[in-house]
Amino acid sequence: MNKLQKLIDKIQNMENIDNFIDAKIIKTSSIQTAFWVRFKCKYGCGGYNTNLNCPPYTPTPEETSELLKYYENAILIKCKDPHLPSQIALDLEKIAIGMEFYKAISFGESSCIQCKKCNLKLCIHKDKVRPSIESCGIDVFNMVRNNGYNMVEYDENGKRTLNFFSLILIQ
Ligand code: SF4
Repeated sequence: MNKLQKLIDKIQNMENIDNFIDAKIIKTSSIQTAFWVRFKCKYGCGGYNTNLNCPPYTPTPEETSELLKYYENAILIKCKDPHLPSQIALDLEKIAIGMEFYKAISFGESSCIQCKKCNLKLCIHKDKVRPSIESCGIDVFNMVRNNGYNMVEYDENGKRTLNFFSLILIQ
């Protein structure tokens, strides 16, 4: 088993992961950033300008695109619960660094809700939060589809389920 797969297997040993569905190793070449993603944050998302892990405070699509050049692999994490992917990604980032993937960096899911009201100046829980994938200009729908997952799924009775994702860049 390679080291990346061993890293994914560590998720099974974490606590409170009932809503974890799956995780897989992906190529960063399957991840695209786009200028329009910022517009979707700015016009249509209530998280915009409410916390330091959302635009306009987060890296721009151009900065994220530059960051991606330093990584070949990533781990994409799929969950049923909107809050779980961020926690798993952050925990896995720490484990990865301990396994000598010293460049590991994670991205969460959705806005930061750690504080009742974000101070919008300096994060007081830097060890506990990472920006959401989309807030850094990554086209999440495209990345998820490119890697065989779906944001929305329907069961045999037509019941709709939303999936939630986080990401770790690994080298
Ligand atoms: S942890 Fe608090 S200060 Fe940091 S980004 Fe989240 S809400 Fe803002």
